[in-house]
Amino acid sequence: MPFQFLGTSGAIPSPARDNTALAFYSPDEVVLVDCSGSPYQKILKAGLDPMRVSSLIVTHRHVDHLYGIPSLAHNMGLAGRRTTLRVYALTETMPILHGFMQLFPLEEKMPYRIELHDIPAKEGHPVLEAKGFRVRSTPVKHGAPNIGLRVEFDAPAERGAVVYSCDTSTCPPLIALARGADILIHEATFLHSDAARAASDGHTTGYQAGEVAAQAGVERLILCHFAASLHDQVDELQREARQTYNGPVEIPEEFREYRVGDPHC
Ligand SMILES: [Zn+2]
Ligand SMILES: [Zn+2]
Repeated sequence: MPFQFLGTSGAIPSPARDNTALAFYSPDEVVLVDCSGSPYQKILKAGLDPMRVSSLIVTHRHVDHLYGIPSLAHNMGLAGRRTTLRVYALTETMPILHGFMQLFPLEEKMPYRIELHDIPAKEGHPVLEAKGFRVRSTPVKHGAPNIGLRVEFDAPAERGAVVYSCDTSTCPPLIALARGADILIHEATFLHSDAARAASDGHTTGYQAGEVAAQAGVERLILCHFAASLHDQVDELQREARQTYNGPVEIPEEFREYRVGDPHC
């Protein structure tokens, strides 16, 4: 089950890490999760075809997760896209997406349409079916309405589940969503010495990400959304997660392809 991190940082990027965003894909279809930096360039850097991007899932309204949308939409139009781009987001996020469309305006003179689809704040909601995989969402606990995602691949060559926490404090619905997954991608914005701040900002520490992985019984944990001040201490976050979770814990590389069947690092 292939996916790549187009970014792995929290809200402030560094030379090494950009804002967290992901691409899930099969040979036929690419689904983006969140949209930051120069998304069109990131898709190319990932070795993917921007025209095969069928959909974008916007997890929540915080700037670091969606500010790239006008650029992506504009670049796709200039590059000659003809097929509709579907954008999925919680109802509470929609005013920002409508705002982008009016501000620029993204559809005028463009050879393709952008379709906005509401995601209801329901546990296990089926968001979309792509060629080779499907995506479900569950509300998580953050400073803005937000969702975690479960991506299930059912192609003959690729089977398994990857769950992405997005920005959240520890919460039972996310643990339920992650139950038995092959890979849990979980945010670890802060060290556990900053647990109070993590809780008040709707984030998680490395230690807590390990607890979630253990409680959900996942095979493998990949951390992300690191505060910029910790970009040179990510091994400390990894050590924290290993205190509470016995399985493999990884710090991701941006633009590396990950698969469910990969040998653990
Ligand atoms: Zn964030
Ligand atoms: Zn956020």
